[in-house]
Amino acid sequence: MIKFLDLQKINLAYQQEIEARILATFRSGWYLLGNEVKQFEENLKNYIGATHTIGVANGLDALRLILRAYIEMGVMQKGDEIIVPANTYIASILAISDNELAPVLVEPDMNTYNIDITKIEEKITSKTKGIMLVHLYGRVVFSEEIKNLARKYNLKIIEDNAQSIGAEWNGSKTGSLGDAAGFSFYPGKNLGALGDAGAVACNDDKLAEIIRALANYGSNQKYINTYKGFNSRLDEIHAVVLDVKLKYIDIDNARRREVAKQYISEIRNPKIILPQYPTNKNEHVWHLFVIKTKNRNNLQEYLSQHKIQTLIHYPIPPHKQQAYKAWNTLSYPVTEAIHREVLSLPISPVITDKEVSTIIEIINCY
Ligand SMILES: *Cc1c(COP(=O)(O)O)cnc(C)c1O
Repeated sequence: MIKFLDLQKINLAYQQEIEARILATFRSGWYLLGNEVKQFEENLKNYIGATHTIGVANGLDALRLILRAYIEMGVMQKGDEIIVPANTYIASILAISDNELAPVLVEPDMNTYNIDITKIEEKITSKTKGIMLVHLYGRVVFSEEIKNLARKYNLKIIEDNAQSIGAEWNGSKTGSLGDAAGFSFYPGKNLGALGDAGAVACNDDKLAEIIRALANYGSNQKYINTYKGFNSRLDEIHAVVLDVKLKYIDIDNARRREVAKQYISEIRNPKIILPQYPTNKNEHVWHLFVIKTKNRNNLQEYLSQHKIQTLIHYPIPPHKQQAYKAWNTLSYPVTEAIHREVLSLPISPVITDKEVSTIIEIINCY
């Protein structure tokens, strides 16, 4: 069986370092808001090229906290609109609606799976206060055009960087391209903890201060509560794991690029549409390798019979979910086609050349 993602193997690659740091944390008796989180935040900040990073409990909270902080600052208010791609993972949208802001769905580009930049401006109204850019599957979505739109309409650019740590646009890392960014360190992400974890990055001192407070009961000083906050902190034990793995993220992402390149150059099957390999390789970190085919379930079944595990990202678009009932009758044809046809092949830093060759061979015989 070729697993979709072998998390055990991914983490065992750093076993000695991780175990030593976890043991030291265990023995220290200090488990929250300590030096390990501080050190990881510092290293993440330097890696991303942001002035602030704040460790939080998960990626959804990172995005919720950014929007909540903008509401506290008076930059946004309830009922304001945030533009977001219609085919994103639902967490991007949950973060918006949780703050009683209105998600405005925009269709993606069929070739990149990212928001169709040419369709953003027509959705901007007097209530639009931000654009949530999701670098989906690990591919950067950014351009001068987006920057100009944000400037013209005074919009905040919030990056959902959950799938794209390490990707670059014009020499700058995702997570530093907009006004604020949310990161997820869910175990299966390119930088994964041993449980839930996340972070926010931004360059705005006030925003950072408010987010840090909001994530800690709305308090920057013990027992002084400035905001109605919540509890969303990064644990010391996760911080040490992430701090070890952050050192290797570029190597891990380079291996993912190698695998993607091999799939793209060797999969030859007219029934299958391959993802684009961007001209600038740094614009993709291949969190997922997503192919498209008309008879997706049939291909998945065929691969499963040949002992290759695949997943679908994602089977049901957000506007067809029961959670967003009011949207169920709306039509987003590009998004719906994507959800009907996509299939994710195994890709990771630890997949072997032999496994990749086997997958290619079996797909080419389909
Ligand atoms: C994983 C993910 C999130 C949420 O992160 P969690 O850490 O699971 O809360 C948000 N957005 C996208 C695009 C994701 O892939």
